[in-house]
Amino acid sequence: MTKRMPSLLAALALLVGACSGGNSPAAPVVTSSALDTTGFLEYGAGTAPLVIVAPHGGSLKPLNLPDRNCSGCEYLADANTEDLARLVVAAFERRTGKRPFLALNHLHRSKFDGNRDQAEATGGNVILNGVWLGWQTTLDSAAVRAARVAGRALYVELHGHAHAVPRIEIGYLATAAQLRMSDAALTAAGVMRSSSITRLVSDTRSGASDVALLRGAPSLGALLVAAGYPAVPSPSDPAPKEGEDYFNGGYNTVRHGSLGGGMTDAVQLECNYAGVRDTAENRAMFAEALSGALVEYFKKQYAWPSA
Ligand SMILES: [Zn+2]
Repeated sequence: MTKRMPSLLAALALLVGACSGGNSPAAPVVTSSALDTTGFLEYGAGTAPLVIVAPHGGSLKPLNLPDRNCSGCEYLADANTEDLARLVVAAFERRTGKRPFLALNHLHRSKFDGNRDQAEATGGNVILNGVWLGWQTTLDSAAVRAARVAGRALYVELHGHAHAVPRIEIGYLATAAQLRMSDAALTAAGVMRSSSITRLVSDTRSGASDVALLRGAPSLGALLVAAGYPAVPSPSDPAPKEGEDYFNGGYNTVRHGSLGGGMTDAVQLECNYAGVRDTAENRAMFAEALSGALVEYFKKQYAWPSA
């Protein structure tokens, strides 16, 4: 599915993707993704209001690029998340007939971090400034193009964690301490109105409350738990306990979600390893479960596809 394309052809593929909305039965469907001119970044235009991104799954370590060396920086990759992202795209397309947008950073995290601001992402290596700009503008573009499909969109970023509790950590930018607040206090504090799904909270088609969207029956966490994958926040695991590790979302979840406005919401999905990312069979099973959960979420919360 992945092949290097001449830049003109790649540009044409992007154009076709941008023009192929959901209303024209004759619209061509882009079924492959392409590398950029550096070979580090991969992008596939889609036809669904969904963006799937893996910023930490890359394995390339070009010898001419120095390792990042910055205070407090993380260098470990998120194993097998590129494969997982491709599987989710394929599974979602099989279920809906519409293809999610796909963006992959193939550089290993020791060289480039696809989920940080420019200084930390590049570790001060100026050679990578253009890569950072290319990556972030690709994500900007995907989020906007996905929203053109149906007026609203969801950006889902796949990561891997090695925390003690094996569960999917769903990041909406709410901190663990905020998640430990009561439902009433959470609503009073307006936590979800300053989240990465701010847009959805203010205009959901199901009428679900802010707390319900976070950890009630209609939440993404509930849908994953129902599919057999423990998740936090969810009705059965509403918040990480004191002392438990939890990732609530990073640079990309802030930038590409609806916190600052716009029509695209975002969630960061931190996946545990065993049973989710470890084997090809488990990745395929999780991709099926996640795509099923996303289809249900789109139907209820975004009224997509429309009847
Ligand atoms: Zn990560």
